[in-house]
Amino acid sequence: MPGEKPQVTAPITAPVSADDATLERAVADAEVHPLLQTLAHITGEDGLLPEHLRQTPEGVLADQGGLDGERLEEARRLARDALKRFRDGGGVVTAPPPDRTRLREIMRFAVGDAADDDDLLPVLTSELALDGDPDAPTWRAEGEQTRFTVAIVGAGMSGLMAAYRLDQAGVPYVIIEKNDDVGGTWLENGYPGCRVDVTNHFYSYSFARLEDWPQYFSTRDVLLGYFRAFADEHGLRENVRFSTEVLSATFSDADGTWSLRVRGPDGAEDTVTANAVISAVGQLNRPRWPDIDGISDFTGPYFHSAEWDHDVSLAGKRVVVIGTGASAYQFIPEIADEAAEVTVFQRTPPWLVPTANYHDDVAEGLQWLLRHLPHFARWYRFWQFVRSAEGLIGMVRVDPDWEPKDVSVSAENEMLRQMLAAAMEAQVADPELAAKVVPRYPPAAKRMLRDNGVWLATLQRDDVHLATEPIQKVVDTGVITRDGTRYEADVIIYGTGFQASRFLTPMKVVGSGGVDLHEHWDGDARAYLGITVPGFPNFFCVYGPNTNIVVNGSIIFFSECAVHYIQECLKLLFDRGARTLECRRDVHDAFNAKVDADNLGMSWGAADVPTWYKNDRGRVSQNWPYSLAEYWHRTHGPDPADFTFT
Ligand code: NAP
Repeated sequence: MPGEKPQVTAPITAPVSADDATLERAVADAEVHPLLQTLAHITGEDGLLPEHLRQTPEGVLADQGGLDGERLEEARRLARDALKRFRDGGGVVTAPPPDRTRLREIMRFAVGDAADDDDLLPVLTSELALDGDPDAPTWRAEGEQTRFTVAIVGAGMSGLMAAYRLDQAGVPYVIIEKNDDVGGTWLENGYPGCRVDVTNHFYSYSFARLEDWPQYFSTRDVLLGYFRAFADEHGLRENVRFSTEVLSATFSDADGTWSLRVRGPDGAEDTVTANAVISAVGQLNRPRWPDIDGISDFTGPYFHSAEWDHDVSLAGKRVVVIGTGASAYQFIPEIADEAAEVTVFQRTPPWLVPTANYHDDVAEGLQWLLRHLPHFARWYRFWQFVRSAEGLIGMVRVDPDWEPKDVSVSAENEMLRQMLAAAMEAQVADPELAAKVVPRYPPAAKRMLRDNGVWLATLQRDDVHLATEPIQKVVDTGVITRDGTRYEADVIIYGTGFQASRFLTPMKVVGSGGVDLHEHWDGDARAYLGITVPGFPNFFCVYGPNTNIVVNGSIIFFSECAVHYIQECLKLLFDRGARTLECRRDVHDAFNAKVDADNLGMSWGAADVPTWYKNDRGRVSQNWPYSLAEYWHRTHGPDPADFTFT
């Protein structure tokens, strides 16, 4: 079975006693900002965070926070000396925990004046999590409340997290999972080369940190192992009904409960009743087959990337791949070595963001720090958060006065476009190929991918061909394009993505008054904060409509926020002795109107390019147009005035 079992890291207690060479290696391999922040924290020394060595706003996009040359050497010298003093002084933390003022000072080294922003500070402090798990429920169900039950649909990253929080709060729950294991998207997507493309030290639960990830962007097996280990460690599997699909969820106005019709592994149906439902089914879990004629006429093997058929050998075969999104981008370089030839059908090229360490193991010295220096892992994750959270968002906002908007949406976006285009062009010798692979739409209108040179090198292999002519149809032995060219194939692989905007399908959800959720949405799914829908009491979504992010952060952060909100909604219910809570329609509508308007002010809303960020009506139904901090604040305590209670 794939999936190693990384265990969540225990706090570091052993004194640092390494030799000079080890410490010097560590400093050489580390990002100096989180290292100096850690040293300032654990030693309490002044002078480790001089203003001229701070990360600048532009430094967010550069290695070492923009430090190079003498300034980088100065920062490393400071770190080396402080690290040796720390070891020589016993190698254990003796400084008192930083108070609020000191914390601001240390944070300022990475975030500059934003450390003085009273709105941002709680988000940063929570993310740093020096006290352990700041979002854990501060309450526990008691008496009658312990008979309140929750049905969670899905045992992926979000469902497991919801279960863990309910466990902490003493609220009984059952998870219903269609697969035979936990892991969701990381279980289903077993295609070659699958890995996370958000830096791993940030793409992990804030309350169950694995500090020593083997790679900066770990592989699918490692991630699946992490989620499996999490489920095992917390006994969550005991409450999962595996291989069981939720067919429908129906609310009863009479008693305020939900009835879930489920089909189990043997095909038998039964009903699960619950007081609340949490849908944690993800956005990217139903494969999307393209509307191309003749798919089933092909006589050879064919499959979708999310349902990879590992029984089909590609050795020596002519393989056609349709799609160049995040999935195809990862598996094409892997299969190119095995197949005799690969023809890649590209409709829209992806933008690539230079990321030299995309496939690399974590450097030895950095790994040493993560494993041995107290609190370094916290500050390293904090650093990742600061750099990836809001790093690019300012560069993808639309300037209404910027014209034309076909290839960029603002001066900053144009700067980014030129930078990315230059990095791509530098890798392609043939100008004809460059014209095909360098996008001609604004950066961030579609998902941007991580570039360590592998993709464009693959497209330049002699046995890999890039086809950009639109496909007319699939026939028995291959693919015919609109210009009449026939591409013979032994195997066709569809890397054509997911039915992302068809939220919660195919599950039928019937709310108050017998209203069917999918009829109500009519192809345009909406929710308040992506979580609650008027008319559907005690029904909550995680990673629901308009909670996807494009250039800032990790979806785990979003799910943590949503689960926190749901947990606090339950507390609201319990505190009021109410049976149900339902979002007010006017609150929901005002929120959605604002999100729609603001999404139009982002690259992905303004650009005219195919993207799963928009639904069939052309509305951006997936994305959150604001900062992570904004979602954190909006979800860190439900406002009772937003709801009606029964
Ligand atoms: P996707 O981004 O939707 O890509 C689908 C690809 O299929 C696109 O290149 C699309 O072209 C092409 N396509 C669709 N219909 C077509 C047709 N009729 N003819 C020709 N080409 C067609 O799907 P995905 O690659 O599976 O990725 C989906 C999302 O999953 C990602 O954006 C990301 O959020 C997530 N993901 C993440 C990772 C990760 O690194 N952790 C890996 C994989 C996926 P157009 O671009 O022209 O539409």
